[in-house]
Amino acid sequence: MDRYRVAIVGGGPAGALTAVCLARSRPDLAPRILLLERRRFPREKICGGGVAGRVVSWLDSIGAPLDGLPHTSVSGLTVNYGDFESYTPFGGQDGYVLRRSVLDQYLLDRARELGVEVREGTPAAGAYRERSGVVVVGGGGEAYRCDVFVGADGVNGSSRVWFGLPPANDRQLLLQGWLPTAPGTDPTGGSLLIDFTPIKHGLKGYVWFFPSVGEDGGLVINTGVTGGELARGGAGRLQDHFASTIERHPEMTAAGPDALKLKPYPERVLSFRQEFSAERVLLVGEQLGVDPLTGEGIGVSADSAVLAAEEILRAFDCGDFSFSGYRRRMMDTGSFWLWTAGKLFTYTQVDWRFDLSLKVITDARAGENTWLGHYCRVFSGVQEPRSIYGLTALRGVGRGILSELRARM
Ligand SMILES: Cc1cc2nc3c(=O)[nH]c(=O)nc-3n(C[C@H](O)[C@H](O)[C@H](O)COP(=O)(O)OP(=O)(O)OC[C@H]3O[C@@H](n4cnc5c(N)ncnc54)[C@H](O)[C@@H]3O)c2cc1C
Repeated sequence: MDRYRVAIVGGGPAGALTAVCLARSRPDLAPRILLLERRRFPREKICGGGVAGRVVSWLDSIGAPLDGLPHTSVSGLTVNYGDFESYTPFGGQDGYVLRRSVLDQYLLDRARELGVEVREGTPAAGAYRERSGVVVVGGGGEAYRCDVFVGADGVNGSSRVWFGLPPANDRQLLLQGWLPTAPGTDPTGGSLLIDFTPIKHGLKGYVWFFPSVGEDGGLVINTGVTGGELARGGAGRLQDHFASTIERHPEMTAAGPDALKLKPYPERVLSFRQEFSAERVLLVGEQLGVDPLTGEGIGVSADSAVLAAEEILRAFDCGDFSFSGYRRRMMDTGSFWLWTAGKLFTYTQVDWRFDLSLKVITDARAGENTWLGHYCRVFSGVQEPRSIYGLTALRGVGRGILSELRARM
């Protein structure tokens, strides 16, 4: 039986970045880190492919810049809700939109270059704790013994189940597809466009349009809809919401809507009520979840990868493998502060409450200090995460409430 210091199951952004962070901090450990990935890369992962500016900058700082990969840059967020429209600049580093096949291959290659043992086409069938470590069982019955197990197997992965750690939230259903664009045009105007109008029709979700890169390198629109139920008929109902929303965006279908084929995929919203770890076990990425408002999971993957690597190195130094402080330390990262904001905002995702709160957080009279402006600056990495609840941000909310009340009287 092979013996490793760390075994990581899953080679998506969370697994690859955990391996990169570990190997960068302790190059001597790299050959004793095993990463098992069920699929062979490049593989497409159904996703919007949006990477927040704060993550783009961080990747740059750890020697994994995204600039050389085919991508589009987005400099702000456009929000639609019925007739309402607002544009908020990110104010810091642009966000990037990439194909996940390209991004994930690139990150996994970084781990491999640093000396991590990456085995593609190798599923893990299970794992269990023993007295002084963890045993990972491969699909062919082979066993890998390790000191620490990292569950990076995504929303459909079973790591949580193997260690008896139930998730707090059910999975929801999303649909995603690609729209061609007319040559030389970008109907999004270089921004992430999110249309929340489906909330008016009872869906707690939205339709997104992100400018992205086609397989031939040309501009395409990555589009889809969130908020569906993983139940019989759920995909059909979601498809109906998408169909009525896209009618409001004829500019998106100018080059022909017929090419659009939506594919379903689940997503799980992050919760801080669930376990993040157990003795010798750490969960990262979508084993934890995604931001409740934006569905951003690559940022959660990055934040949890950084922390998981720190936890592991600390455990190797002091011999305490309980990982009991991991969830609390996640509460100091950008993911936590964006999550709290997203959580608050999703409570308003019912008819008039959403209309009101959207106007309050985008009120033009607050100038740069709209609450959404603060949120976007945190998203793009130019502002401290907890400043979403700082005095200036809250003043922006106060001003928004006052002017909205005045407009309604
Ligand atoms: C439609 C949609 C749109 C999205 N849009 C965005 C977006 O624009 N921006 C954003 O930040 N996030 C977005 N997300 C969320 C994002 O895609 C995920 O949160 C992110 O992929 C999580 O990364 P991960 O590494 O944890 O998991 P994954 O990327 O799912 O990777 C997990 C890997 O583990 C492997 N694996 C699973 N089981 C095993 C096993 N038993 N053995 C070995 N390997 C295994 C899988 O093959 C996979 O490669 C979106 C999600 C959906 C569904």
